[in-house]
Amino acid sequence: MQSFDALLNESSKAHGHLCPGQVVGVRMAMLGCRLIELDEPTRRDQIKKLIVYVEMDRCTADAVAHVTGVKLGRRSLKFVDYGIMAATFVNLETGKAFRVLSTEEARDLACAYAPDVAGKGDRQLEAYRRMPDSVLFRVQKVRVNLDACDLPGPTRYKAVCSRCGQVIRDRREYLVDGAPVCRPCSEDCYFSHAREVSWPNMDWSPPAPSDPEPPRQAPARCGLVSVS
Ligand SMILES: [Zn+2]
Ligand SMILES: [Zn+2]
Repeated sequence: MQSFDALLNESSKAHGHLCPGQVVGVRMAMLGCRLIELDEPTRRDQIKKLIVYVEMDRCTADAVAHVTGVKLGRRSLKFVDYGIMAATFVNLETGKAFRVLSTEEARDLACAYAPDVAGKGDRQLEAYRRMPDSVLFRVQKVRVNLDACDLPGPTRYKAVCSRCGQVIRDRREYLVDGAPVCRPCSEDCYFSHAREVSWPNMDWSPPAPSDPEPPRQAPARCGLVSVS
């Protein structure tokens, strides 16, 4: 694996800024990978062995994903919305899994580790770089129950929602009176008041690459027409 500084530099670039969360995330990922014995997680032969669960959608999550190379689209990055600064690293080959949690004490100890640095953000950044793993993190050995439907690779199973007809992949359906139901059709949904909408030039599509003419009509931004 690259050095901490090289990883931090790359990760901050990808994330958009250097922040204390990048320092914690890069260190979290380095430690997690070391614990499950994947020293080059982004290398071709190792990338397929790694699954990472992140429990927060903040700066740290980006750093963990960047260093490990896990991606939502590859199903190697799992986001579980716990609001906890933690990530679990799973080695699919050995079954070994470790959950690394960022401690609250580390925040309080920033002054002790970087008394020479002015400014809260800069002090945290430098302190998180200097702190030993034992202060920055707690670590749990855990067991992760991964189903075939959680793994990378082709879709294993498709159900059709008995209420809206949408296809639900990988066993994410609920069974209501024995019939498959998608989550939006159940109570367990993040949105409400869904209404189908359309507009006059909804049949727009990007022009073919060889087409010298620009698209005649851009997608309408107003004039939504409800069809409900
Ligand atoms: Zn950030
Ligand atoms: Zn449905």
